[in-house]
Amino acid sequence: MGLLTNVVTIFANDCLFAMKNPMMEHLDGKFLIDGRLVAAVRADIPVHNPATGDIVGTSGHATLGEVNAAVRVAKHSFESWAGRPAKERAVYLHRLGDLIRQDLHELAHIMTREQGKPLNEARDEFVKLAEICQFYAEEATRVRGETILNDSTNHESVLVREPIGIVAAITPWNYPAELVGWKLGGALAAGCTIVIKPAEITPFTALAIGAKCIEAEIPDGVVNIVCGLGETVGQALVEHQDIRKVAFTGSSATGLHIQRSATNIKHMSLELGGNCPLIVTESADLPAAVAGAVRRAFRNCGQICISVNRIYVARPLYEAFIERFSQAAENLTVANGLENPNADLGAMVSTETLSKTVDHLHDAMTKGARLTAGGSPPKGPNFAQGHFFRPTSLADCTHDMKIMTEETFGPIAGVAPFDHLSEAVALANDTRYGLAAYIYASKADEIHYLSRRLNCGNVAVNNIDPGIINVPYGGRKDSGIGCEHGREGMLEYMSVKHIRTRYDLSGIS
Ligand code: ADP
Repeated sequence: MGLLTNVVTIFANDCLFAMKNPMMEHLDGKFLIDGRLVAAVRADIPVHNPATGDIVGTSGHATLGEVNAAVRVAKHSFESWAGRPAKERAVYLHRLGDLIRQDLHELAHIMTREQGKPLNEARDEFVKLAEICQFYAEEATRVRGETILNDSTNHESVLVREPIGIVAAITPWNYPAELVGWKLGGALAAGCTIVIKPAEITPFTALAIGAKCIEAEIPDGVVNIVCGLGETVGQALVEHQDIRKVAFTGSSATGLHIQRSATNIKHMSLELGGNCPLIVTESADLPAAVAGAVRRAFRNCGQICISVNRIYVARPLYEAFIERFSQAAENLTVANGLENPNADLGAMVSTETLSKTVDHLHDAMTKGARLTAGGSPPKGPNFAQGHFFRPTSLADCTHDMKIMTEETFGPIAGVAPFDHLSEAVALANDTRYGLAAYIYASKADEIHYLSRRLNCGNVAVNNIDPGIINVPYGGRKDSGIGCEHGREGMLEYMSVKHIRTRYDLSGIS
């Protein structure tokens, strides 16, 4: 096929996908229960394209009966799944990763249509999902225990790790594939079965992953998906007596509610909100710091718990940083992510996230912040129906402004100067959150001083990716408990059993 024909075909396919998506239609109003896509009893939650406001599908809203059915089959499948050799579980996870990689184009369209992020970003997220499946496929075969000495030589203590049981995964809309993947990969590798409840505004990405689980021939009942509202469907899972672990990603308020409302003892991993600082010291490489700040403040429209929300810059670099940062923010493209796959920012997911951004902007402006970039939605008919906002930078921010203390979850960052590193640390730690922090500096002493004093679970120095799949990732304070990623992210789905044996060696010669 010639290059032009190729381009025309891709364009035609994209137009077709923009109007209609066959896989999405197939998933409309469905749940995954016991290895099959089944029609929900009630399917009455409209799912919108955030870039246009169009309804792109309908989500089921699970009844208590459907939630119980999903947990029942997960319970029924648990023993045989847990009892398989880890090497077999690894084969399924590898196959799932391969199948996801083979279908990136269609999967990305589904995500963009319901979440709003540009197509290429959605595609990258599915690539990461495939990597997560395959990382945990490998980890599954590396579980090990321990032998511990006793006071007497004919006793021996052995620690073995066993899967916890049935897991409820409750996931948000900002990374609707990866955040399912962290839980699915860790749980399945450990030998647990799972019931997933995706966010009500992005159910199709999770269901598409479910369809891939069917294609991968993961045994029936091992992966189940029920959709619907958090306060009913999510809550029913939290309160279900057979759920042994809740793996949750979402807001700190909902995380606290979940922790309080469990009605029996359950393991929990809670990956919650953040308000993440970036410190730029006088020794920093300024262009690198600006590039990092722009990427991590505005990627996914700032709808990331590890987004850079506030930036503290050493006073001698302060004005130069603001000028470059503001210019770089203005240079980013905002567009409908289906029409412009390479856009830097697509639509924000909902009116709620957009209004919170506007509220934080107004709050800061009335308290004396200086607007240096953005500050309004982009103009033009293409943006009229969607939740778009330009990347926004505010200088001279102080800690009485919401933007410096609360999680905005929007494309906006506040900047402030500092004079001493101890002041930067105090400002960075002045938050109820403790998820991630960023440092740009070139002096090793400064890096050591800052990184050891920042009270959070993840610190990225001269880069903006504190979360990589093979290293544990988790928050402190109101940002959560437990961890995901890495070997530790799988061990969170296992409990330890102590087997103490007395041997009688007296009769052996
Ligand atoms: P966000 O602010 O990102 O929308 P939420 O914490 O409200 O975050 O939602 C994250 C996930 O938690 C979603 O799947 C949502 O449906 C679910 N959820 C919300 N409330 C509850 C609840 N009371 N119990 C269980 N899950 C809930």
